[in-house]
Amino acid sequence: MVFSQTTALIGLILNLAIAIYAFKREWLDAGGTVAALTVGVLVFSFGGWTWLALLLFFFASSNALGRQWVKEKKLPRQEFAKEGVRDFWQVFANGGLAALLAVLYNVYQSPAIFAAFLGVIATITADTWGTEVGVLEKKPRLVTTFKGVKRGTSGAVSKLGLATTFAAGFLIAVLIYFLDWAGAIVGGSLGGSVTAAFGEPVRQFVGGFGLVLLTAFVAVVGGLADSFFGATVQGVYYCAKCKKETEKRLHRCGCKTKLKRGYAVIDNDAVNLLASIVGAAVAFALYSFFFH
Ligand SMILES: [Zn+2]
Repeated sequence: MVFSQTTALIGLILNLAIAIYAFKREWLDAGGTVAALTVGVLVFSFGGWTWLALLLFFFASSNALGRQWVKEKKLPRQEFAKEGVRDFWQVFANGGLAALLAVLYNVYQSPAIFAAFLGVIATITADTWGTEVGVLEKKPRLVTTFKGVKRGTSGAVSKLGLATTFAAGFLIAVLIYFLDWAGAIVGGSLGGSVTAAFGEPVRQFVGGFGLVLLTAFVAVVGGLADSFFGATVQGVYYCAKCKKETEKRLHRCGCKTKLKRGYAVIDNDAVNLLASIVGAAVAFALYSFFFH
């Protein structure tokens, strides 16, 4: 979509409404709302409807899944660094790269950049879904050693989690087909410029099963990358009093925890950002190699 003041204004109004709604429902705190608004406006103004719809699919589905099986997830979730309400860095870690790619797309107009954006969406959706559903699995294993670990451990993978990441990627691909179809219909009745605004980058993809494969594959790769970074570089702490591994620096019991593995500077947000960079790079490379 060609950037204009009008689209930026529409983007601002649309995203402001969504951000306020999310803030009121306590999906986002104040900082998270500002970050989400910034990401949403950039993605819409520089990418277009399709891009924003994909971003909203991630946001809405993640929030919906987050509210499922609350009882079952209560125990493992206690050791997560952050729960429930998303803050500035959480939103930035998930959406920052997506916004940057929208801006780059506007400069270079390359469908490979849209592929990279797709890689980010597939990865962050796969990671969130994989965490929300995978944490239900009774006996997860660490992605690096395949040793059995406690539910909720950073870097843990399970069959259920993997199947969920694949489903996330597959559904995103289906959504792209739908958006393309809707864009063609709306564009057909309203004229070429609307088609361009709606689904220009999508048009260049659709026409093969390759897109579905690419998105589902990248979702699994991105989800695994997230687990891998979680198992290797993410700072994981240990509470000596409770004898528990945790992501928290200050434990629930009030005790200061000790760094057990990984690096203190790399928290769950940093891991998400790293994984989305991998997802973007893999999607970009696969698209450039197979589709061009
Ligand atoms: Zn403790």
